Amino acid sequence: MKVVKTIQEVRDYVVAWRKAGLSVGLVPTMGYLHEGHQSLIRKSVEQNDRTVVSVFVNPIQFGPNEDLEAYPRDLNRDMKAVEEAGGDLIFNPEPEEMYRGHFTSFIDTTETTELLCGAVRPVHFRGVCTVVGKLFNIVQPDRAYFGQKDAQQLATIRRFVRDLNFPVEIVPCPIVREADGLAKSSRNTYLNVEERKAALILSQSLKKGKSAIEQGERDAQRVIDIIRKNLETEPMARIDYVEVVDFENIQRVAEIKGETLVAIAVYIGKTRLIDNFIVDVK
Ligand code: AMP
Repeated sequence: MKVVKTIQEVRDYVVAWRKAGLSVGLVPTMGYLHEGHQSLIRKSVEQNDRTVVSVFVNPIQFGPNEDLEAYPRDLNRDMKAVEEAGGDLIFNPEPEEMYRGHFTSFIDTTETTELLCGAVRPVHFRGVCTVVGKLFNIVQPDRAYFGQKDAQQLATIRRFVRDLNFPVEIVPCPIVREADGLAKSSRNTYLNVEERKAALILSQSLKKGKSAIEQGERDAQRVIDIIRKNLETEPMARIDYVEVVDFENIQRVAEIKGETLVAIAVYIGKTRLIDNFIVDVK
């Protein structure tokens, strides 16, 4: 397992692999890797001859009052995690390597980024799509791996890859959770002991919404109400949004049918956590 800091070094590796007829998978991350990231790496290792993991806290996807500075970083920990999961190369550029000089070109998306996190984090998806597009051009992978944990991101990347003809297959990966149900996230490290307990309200509330749908509820607003009511039982929780949208276009639906995303964002203290589930109702 190697770590490289420059675009040229990644390209040299990939060119050599391509010459040898090897396939390449890419797992884009912001580092501080956990089992969620490792599940993506393992999937890539299974499906490709070589796997590149990018570890880059992308400044342009953070708004002015967000946690860019505080975001946890630990390359040694990440090296161990990638090695353990069987990855071949970490690409860990400095921001200056990715955004040289006067940077003025962006991948901007519509529709799938209007609601949910797109509505409350105005520059976020433009930053995500731009860096992911750059990584696709740098690594030129056959496949790239994204977690359903960030479902709106997954739907958006799938869309721009299709719209802009990037020659890469997007492979979605299920949410990996802690034993008690909390979705694994690098941001969970922000939680103190009390907040960590309170954070369970996210997965618990989603579970209530999901079982209502399983029992035949098809009214989106009623599912939202069930989830909101349950979230409101936790005094440390402050709801950012609870939404029911179609997973393809990320637009609100009144009736639950087809592939439907139920997504929430909730502050526990100062930490903003997201979670979701997807149902496919025939
Ligand atoms: P991040 O480092 O948070 O930007 O995440 C990098 C990739 O890992 C994204 O595709 C995430 O959706 C995915 N990911 C993060 N947490 C999880 C999780 N708990 N389960 C599955 N995938 C995850």
